[in-house]
Amino acid sequence: MSFKCYLCQKTFSSRKQLLTHERTKHKNNKTIPHLHLLHQPTFEQLVSYQDAFIVLIKKRLGFNRHSVGSKRLSISVFPENVFVHLFQNEPSFRYNSALRKYRCTFKGEAGEGRLKQILNYEYWNCRQDPKTKTTGYVLFVNSEEIYEVSFSWAQNELVENNRIFQCGTVICTFTTDSGEFINGNEVTNENHTSAHSAIPTITKTNNQSQYRFILPRSPFKN
Ligand SMILES: [Zn+2]
Repeated sequence: MSFKCYLCQKTFSSRKQLLTHERTKHKNNKTIPHLHLLHQPTFEQLVSYQDAFIVLIKKRLGFNRHSVGSKRLSISVFPENVFVHLFQNEPSFRYNSALRKYRCTFKGEAGEGRLKQILNYEYWNCRQDPKTKTTGYVLFVNSEEIYEVSFSWAQNELVENNRIFQCGTVICTFTTDSGEFINGNEVTNENHTSAHSAIPTITKTNNQSQYRFILPRSPFKN
């Protein structure tokens, strides 16, 4: 039995060799050999998966010390063509052909801004407690570090009645934080100016019409 690299057509005698080859020779691969088989997703399909990301990310945002830290969410049946359509043109997009796996990461302020465009929603990464006015948000930059949000897609095979069902699972990882903001500046710590550019202007009067927790949304305009 031979194992073929679909990126350069070389063959190997074991899967392990193929995996090593791909990891070393095609480390930064963006080519998808079967791209022609992936249909263009419909507009409705795209919107529903953008919304799924927004809703699930927002659900991980909280307002106290316990809701701060590394978070992970997964969507167990996620169409490959939607993932490719959303992330294919990003500089960090990678495809591992032997593993049938894609990955894309977004770092710092640039990443935060780019995800507004990809998810088509300005406030995809923050949420405010109506009572305490504390904002929970996805962390990209603080005074010490730059953080990243990563999206990966991998193909799974489910077996039922001796039939194989192939589906893709998306995993998204990110870091969350929370704080109180007035006019975009964190007020809990006066010694540093936070660079949370996506945090909307929140005043003490908390104008509800300015700030939406979750959907419906108005499209993000670049
Ligand atoms: Zn190869």
